[in-house]
Amino acid sequence: MVPEPSARAYSTRFGPEALVDKKPGPSEESRAIAVQARTLELYQGLGLTEEVVAGGYRIETVHIREGEQEIARIDLKSAGTGRSPFPFALAYPQDAHERLLIQKLEDAGVKVEWGVSLADFTQDETGVTVELEHDGKRTSVTAAFLCGCDGGHSQVRHALGIPFVGDTYAQVFYVADAILATQFSTDIYANIGSAGIALAMPKSELSELSMDDVRPSAEAALGVRVEHTNWFATYRIHHRVADKFRVGRCFLVGDAGHLHSPAGGQGMNTGIGDAFNLAWKLAMVYKGASDESILSTYEAERRPFALTLVATTDRVFRFIAGSDWLTRFLRIWVAPWILRLVAATGLGQSAAFNTVSQLRIQYRTSPFSQGKAGRVVGGDRLPWVHEGDLDNFAKLGSGWQLHVYGTPEPDLADEAESLGLELVQFPFSAAAAQAGLAQDAAYLVRPDGYVSWVSAAQNEEELRGFVDRLSLRFSPDAT
Ligand SMILES: Cc1cc2nc3c(=O)[nH]c(=O)nc-3n(C[C@H](O)[C@H](O)[C@H](O)COP(=O)(O)OP(=O)(O)OC[C@H]3O[C@@H](n4cnc5c(N)ncnc54)[C@H](O)[C@@H]3O)c2cc1C
Repeated sequence: MVPEPSARAYSTRFGPEALVDKKPGPSEESRAIAVQARTLELYQGLGLTEEVVAGGYRIETVHIREGEQEIARIDLKSAGTGRSPFPFALAYPQDAHERLLIQKLEDAGVKVEWGVSLADFTQDETGVTVELEHDGKRTSVTAAFLCGCDGGHSQVRHALGIPFVGDTYAQVFYVADAILATQFSTDIYANIGSAGIALAMPKSELSELSMDDVRPSAEAALGVRVEHTNWFATYRIHHRVADKFRVGRCFLVGDAGHLHSPAGGQGMNTGIGDAFNLAWKLAMVYKGASDESILSTYEAERRPFALTLVATTDRVFRFIAGSDWLTRFLRIWVAPWILRLVAATGLGQSAAFNTVSQLRIQYRTSPFSQGKAGRVVGGDRLPWVHEGDLDNFAKLGSGWQLHVYGTPEPDLADEAESLGLELVQFPFSAAAAQAGLAQDAAYLVRPDGYVSWVSAAQNEEELRGFVDRLSLRFSPDAT
């Protein structure tokens, strides 16, 4: 929940910025293992990346198996080189990831209230009044906004009456954390044979349980021998997107708004992207640096991506899990040849990296996006420029910046200063040109690293008009 901008006195135990979870404590299941490059880039501005990368394993190779044979080995080491400071997929289990974020929140003075459920809520034009339940007792809290990050069964979504459009696959899936008798590997092992799909990813931490029923087929499919199983669970997979991500002062974030197959390692990463997108906008509204109209861009930017993601993962899922004759024929006879070709030539790997890593996400149709210079259009992710000592991402923080790759005009510099906007100048270089940036153009960069406004001519009046239209006010602590 997000506090009301006006400081009101609350007599309850839970403050208006309460962060509550009905579980008794942090998760102990690994669930999301793959952390994508775009998530690491978002974390860079918060100073989180180093610890996340140090806590995980870089996934360097994917071993594709068919039956009990390895048919292709895809090298991931160079797929993203030059595109991101993090040109790899990282294996970092969700339980460890959550513990790190909880610790960082505590360091920043924010405590998660465990064992506290959202029981009910009502909203009007000024705020949301929430009923919280803890130890059988109810407490009422009023806040300016409510963020439902409450998973696939989201009570916030149900209470708002938002349809969760899509379906549930018929197949039952299992997931297990296990200690292998075979040597520990930081690679991914995938089997897309005729009997079903299996995937193994590296993880170093443990909990407990057993999986005797599926052990023989999993061992054969993945070419491993399980010594001990720490956690085992069965689950069904849905492909659904909420009709709306916002009603009034209430928002849906993460699985509450979209669900899809875990293949591709996208769910948690997309939820983190949602949270990042909404958080700096709420912060600006809360700090009086923008009016509430910017909050409408959350759904405008994130829901189209969720729709695309769910449609894509659905197509991939139907291909790898489908049992009709055509799908089986393509999977068993055609896919291995394509995968061998990819492994031998590297063909299509960098396009695949751009998609899976979420670097390709853009907000070009957002009301927040305007202009074009070079190949960069308002709404694009700021391209990474790296050459010698120059690294434009290393300069990004958690606020707005105006970038010029070349020479800023004095009028633009004056306008930036009067707006309280940080102007960052970079030399125009071959790397900047290769990344698609235009010499001497101006790029307004949002707190989440997307380019908002672009001007090839450094038109300072246009910048002022854009900022006024969106009622933005810049200050170092506005986000
Ligand atoms: C086997 C498996 C593998 C996966 N692998 C990947 C991967 O590699 N990469 C990836 O990106 N994603 C992956 N995912 C998906 C990822 O785990 C989810 O997308 C992610 O956990 C969603 O996070 P969330 O916070 O939105 O929801 P959840 O993780 O479901 O969290 C919701 C929280 O809300 C709390 N809550 C619910 N109702 C209430 C209430 N009324 N009051 C208070 N609290 C409440 C719950 O206790 C819970 O803690 C995987 C999922 C599975 C199952």
